[in-house]
Amino acid sequence: MSDLDKTNSGSTPTNFIRNIINKDLESGKRTSVATRFPPEPNGFLHIGHAKSICINFGIAADYQGTCNLRFDDTNPAKEESAYAVAIAKDVQWLGFNWNGEIRHSADYFEKLYSFAEELISKGVAYVCELSMEQMREYRGTLTEVGKNSPFRERCIEDNLGLFKRMRAGEFEDGTIALRAKIDMGSPNINMRDPVIYRIKKAHHIRTGDAWCIYPTYDFTHGISDAIEGITHSLCTLEFEDHRPLYNWFLDNITIDCHPQQIEFSRLNLEHTITSKRKLNQLVVEGIVDGWDDPRMPTISGMRRRGYSPAAIRDFIGRTGVTKKVHTVEMTLLENSVREDLGDKAPRAMVVLKPLKVTITNYPEEKVEEIAAARHPQNESMGTRKIYFSKTLFIDQEDFRESANKKYKRLVQGKAVRLRNAYVITCEDFVKDEQGNIVELLCRYDENTLGKNPEGYKAKGVIHWVSGSHSKLATVRLYDRLFNIANPAAEDNFIDAVNPDCLQIIDNARVELSLVESKPEDVFQFEREGYFCADRYEHERGKLVFNRTVTLRDSWAKIEAKG
Ligand code: ATP
Ligand code: MG
Repeated sequence: MSDLDKTNSGSTPTNFIRNIINKDLESGKRTSVATRFPPEPNGFLHIGHAKSICINFGIAADYQGTCNLRFDDTNPAKEESAYAVAIAKDVQWLGFNWNGEIRHSADYFEKLYSFAEELISKGVAYVCELSMEQMREYRGTLTEVGKNSPFRERCIEDNLGLFKRMRAGEFEDGTIALRAKIDMGSPNINMRDPVIYRIKKAHHIRTGDAWCIYPTYDFTHGISDAIEGITHSLCTLEFEDHRPLYNWFLDNITIDCHPQQIEFSRLNLEHTITSKRKLNQLVVEGIVDGWDDPRMPTISGMRRRGYSPAAIRDFIGRTGVTKKVHTVEMTLLENSVREDLGDKAPRAMVVLKPLKVTITNYPEEKVEEIAAARHPQNESMGTRKIYFSKTLFIDQEDFRESANKKYKRLVQGKAVRLRNAYVITCEDFVKDEQGNIVELLCRYDENTLGKNPEGYKAKGVIHWVSGSHSKLATVRLYDRLFNIANPAAEDNFIDAVNPDCLQIIDNARVELSLVESKPEDVFQFEREGYFCADRYEHERGKLVFNRTVTLRDSWAKIEAKG
């Protein structure tokens, strides 16, 4: 059973969408389930999209149905092929396979054009020459009905002729548009003669310069679903008011499929942003290093940070599927990540702020090889070799000249356990001219490997690396991207960026087993957190580790025996 099967098989909790589908299948209204995930290729996918992906692909899998991946590419100005490539990769990485080939709304441009002609022929669409500005004025407001366009009663033949000339490129951008003839008095503004086609002399990523008129998203979306035979069009709440319009289009064209649209609430996550437009701003302004910067809530950013697809799916499962607008705490996501990594991340020792330790009673040239468990609870993961030698490094934070009883690390005159190795006692230390402690002079107790010391106690366990058998590495400590829970509500969300969201340590010391790590390998650096080998830097042969998430559990839980 694959990773994915485990999360999706049978155990998927029911929700209102499943209840609707169950009823449709029971009543015979539907005999199968076909869904789709329809991103616009105008940016990378974020954690919110992951929700839509899990719902659409998850439902298709549970009902032995299909889920299409379709790029809703009706806006040539903002779309890029690179985004489309990244999106497809992200969907696959999350563990989902789409039905057949990737689809594009642009594949249906010719069909959409004929449907528009059909609407004109039926007298329910017209070519309008109001400027954008005028159209806005005529549209009315939430409290005021709209006014009919003076071009509304143009005859069918003239409309057909003008629409052909629009396609032929005879008009300039924004001067003329095709509109549906519905109801300027409708309380739903979406129904007030919405634009169906507009002129845009722009190059399209798939159709090149074949078109200078493009269908609007509203016209395209529902019809594309119908063309693909989608049974249940699952989307977020902001499309609820568009549903009557999608239904109107389908009722007025000749097509035999009529998908049912069901809306659910968007996923919002505290301390971050879920809007491609705003994420793009972070990239463009150089606040992050690209869309897949590990601080970004993008799928590729989370991947680079060391989150696994299983952890992300688990998190999405926990957020549930409802119509209630909600914002989820970051801790919920981080807990899913910790839970996932706790079982599978091998342990390693890394010293972030190295402080030299000399073991005064240890022979100069001697090096001891110690087999240390890769995982304390999982023997099958085996062991790795660590090396004990005269010169070691511990973390600067793990030593104090004097301390109270609560400090369970190394203090002058006291003993501490070196994780997986001996108990050492600090006898003296060396300070530089500025008064910084630069070296500890310690004795080791040779009878304490895997045994408690006799006649005295070691206070706590600290991690360490050998001086001769360790390597320098870069460690990037990531923190929340925003200081405040809801940056999207700020006038300028950029001001809320956490200035300490990235700290780079370039002289960390890592144990030798990490030299063999491969890009994207994840580890628990004992006492420090979960880290992953950066996928790009590692490929270039550099040792760079990204902090995935901090540890929840304190070191206190590890037995004093080491
Ligand atoms: P953005 O504002 O980030 O551009 P979008 O909704 O415009 O988001 P699309 O590419 O059009 O992005 O979205 C593809 C699908 O993902 C849509 O069906 C949309 O409803 C869904 N989606 C987008 N954001 C979220 C979210 N935060 N939670 C759940 N689903 C989402
Ligand atoms: Mg969009």
